[in-house]
Amino acid sequence: MNKINPAHIGFDIDGVVADTGGAFIRIANEEYGLRSISLEDITYYDVVDCLDVERKIIDDIFTRLHDEPLSSGIQPMEDAIHVLHKYAEHAPLTFVTARPQKKPIDIWLKHFLDPSVYEEMRLVAMGVHDNKAPYIKDLGLKYFVDDRLQTCQKLTGKGITPLVYNQPWNINGHNLQTVEDWKAIYALCFD
Ligand SMILES: [Mg+2]
Repeated sequence: MNKINPAHIGFDIDGVVADTGGAFIRIANEEYGLRSISLEDITYYDVVDCLDVERKIIDDIFTRLHDEPLSSGIQPMEDAIHVLHKYAEHAPLTFVTARPQKKPIDIWLKHFLDPSVYEEMRLVAMGVHDNKAPYIKDLGLKYFVDDRLQTCQKLTGKGITPLVYNQPWNINGHNLQTVEDWKAIYALCFD
């Protein structure tokens, strides 16, 4: 595959840049005593469908992860910030998230990105899951990294090449191009 122009690729945040699943598991373990669940148990994007955990607890944890991503302890995925800074040397970073609120995740990005990189980046918070294609197109992107399979499937055929960021909840049932980690994302654009 030819190398991708860094200006043409955008990123989902949760499950791609941010280890939101890892934070969910940690809070469930440490604060709710749910010690038997692990990331590998999350085999569906809708967590309530695959974990034997009360919906109220799941909702409470996700509310925290949405409202306070920084103080709830969501960490970046391994190598994500380093690779994003490499990308930012060539083009402003672009993030498109289904999160309904922009501010909390903006604060999270500001914490982890160098100030100059943060100032240049573009962040769109859509509030819905199923309509990313027009936003991504308007931003001039041709490739998009996301962990939600339905989102990736909807991008195909709309002139956008999805790259599925491998997670336990998206491994099966598709033949789209995948990326295993941020080293693989680096290799999409650079030698
Ligand atoms: Mg995601």
